[in-house]
Amino acid sequence: MTNQYLIDVLESVKKRNPGEPEFIQALTEVLESLEPVIEKRPDLVAAGVIERLVEPERQIIFRVPWVDDNGKVQVNRGFRIQYNSAIGPYKGGIRLHPSVNLGIIKFLGFEQIFKNSLTTLPMGGGKGGSDFDPKGKSDGEVMRFCQSFMTELCRHVGADLDVPAGDIGTGAREIGYMFGQYKRIRNEFTGVLTGKGLTYGGSLARTQATGFGVCYFTNEVLKANGMSFEGKKVIVSGSGNVAIYCNQKATELGATVIAMSDSNGYIYDPNGIDLAAVKQIKEVERKRIKEYVATHPGSTYTEGCAGIWSLPCDIALPCATQNEIDKASAELLAANGCKVVCEGANMPSTPEAIAVYFEKGIIYGPAKACNAGGVATSGLEMSQNSMRYSWSFEEVDAKLQDIMKSIFKACDDAAREYGMEGNYMAGANIAGFLKVAEAMKAQGCV
Ligand code: GLU
Repeated sequence: MTNQYLIDVLESVKKRNPGEPEFIQALTEVLESLEPVIEKRPDLVAAGVIERLVEPERQIIFRVPWVDDNGKVQVNRGFRIQYNSAIGPYKGGIRLHPSVNLGIIKFLGFEQIFKNSLTTLPMGGGKGGSDFDPKGKSDGEVMRFCQSFMTELCRHVGADLDVPAGDIGTGAREIGYMFGQYKRIRNEFTGVLTGKGLTYGGSLARTQATGFGVCYFTNEVLKANGMSFEGKKVIVSGSGNVAIYCNQKATELGATVIAMSDSNGYIYDPNGIDLAAVKQIKEVERKRIKEYVATHPGSTYTEGCAGIWSLPCDIALPCATQNEIDKASAELLAANGCKVVCEGANMPSTPEAIAVYFEKGIIYGPAKACNAGGVATSGLEMSQNSMRYSWSFEEVDAKLQDIMKSIFKACDDAAREYGMEGNYMAGANIAGFLKVAEAMKAQGCV
C-alpha cells in the first residue's frame, strides 16, 4: 500500500486496537484493495468515509452468567458489534466458540459490512458471540446459556434494528432457545433472528444456503475460466453446516468430495465422502469425525486438521474457520495441482496464503463473496417474516442462485473496471465498499 492517507488510517486503527490481529488482518486486506478507489474518489475522502467505516458504530460487551448441570455458576463474556448501518439494520451471526474475543468479533463484523452489501439486499453489518463452548454441554446447559445471553442482548436487537443469526457453534437449537427468550421478555413475535426453525418463521433453504451458495459462486468462477465441477476432486474442510451443504451441492454438480475435517483431524475417502454418515455423526450424534472410518472401509483418518491441504485436489473449499490455510498449505495445494480456492468459512486464508494463490495462478474466490449466500437467505427470511408469508424451497433456492450470480458479476465487473481482471478479492472489496460508501456520504457525517 502506497497511499499515505490509507497508511495513516491503518496506523491509527492499529494503535487504537492493540491485541486484535484478526481484525487488523481483515482491515488491511480491504484497505489495500481500496487504494485505486480512494485515488479516484476524493469526495469519499472529504466525507471521512474511511475513518468512519473502520470504527464500529456501537460495541456491546456483557456478562453471561448461567448455572451448569452440577449447580455451579459459570460466567462467559458476550459480544455484539453493531458495525455499520448505512444500508440497513445490522445483520450478522452469533459465534459460540472458546476462541471468541473482541478482535475476532470485530473482524467478522467488519467483513459482514461488505458481504451484506454484495448480497444486493438492505442489510448493515454486525456480529456477535461468546467464548462459551457448546461442545460437551447438555441441552439444558446450552438452553440456560442462550437464555442468559438473550436476556441482555434483547435490549440491543430487533427486527428493524439488528437481526442476529447463526455462525460457528450457533445452529437451529441455539437460535430456537434465543428466539424463545426474546419473545418471552419483549412480548413480541417478530423476525428478530434468522435461521429459525420452519415451524416458527424460518425460511426454507436457509440451512443449506451458505454451502449451496459457495458452490453456486464457485460454479460461476469455474464457468468464467472455462471449467466446471464435473469430474473434479474437491476438498471441503470442516464438517459443520457450511461444509455439509457445500459437499452436497458440489457432489450434485458432478464433483467428488474426497476429504472433510473437524478441529481434531481429517477423513479421506477416495470414493467420495458418504455425506449421510457425516450428517449422522456431526448433526445427530454430535461426535467427532474420526468415527467415520469405523463404518467406511477404504477411508482413512489423520490427526491434525491442517494436513487436509496436503491431499491432491482440483478445487479447495475451506469451510472450517479463519486462517486455516497458511502459506505452507497454500504452497502444497499449488504444488499438487489445485486450480481454484473458494472460501466457505470467514477469512480462512492467511494473507501469505492469498499471496501464494496469486503467485501460482490459483483462482481465488474470497469469503465475503463466496459465502454471502447464507446471509442473503437470511435477508430473504426477513422479507418473508415482514410479509407474514413463506416461499417454497424452489423459490428461495432460485433467488439464492440469482443473488450468487449477481455477486460474481459485481466482483468481476469491479475488478475489470479497476484494471485487475480476475482478481475477485479486489472486486469484492471494491463493489461491497462502494454501495456502503455512497450511502454514508449521502447520509452526512453520522
Ligand atoms: N454467520 C453467517 C455469515 O458469516 C450468516 C449471518 C446471517 O445470516 O446473518 O455470514
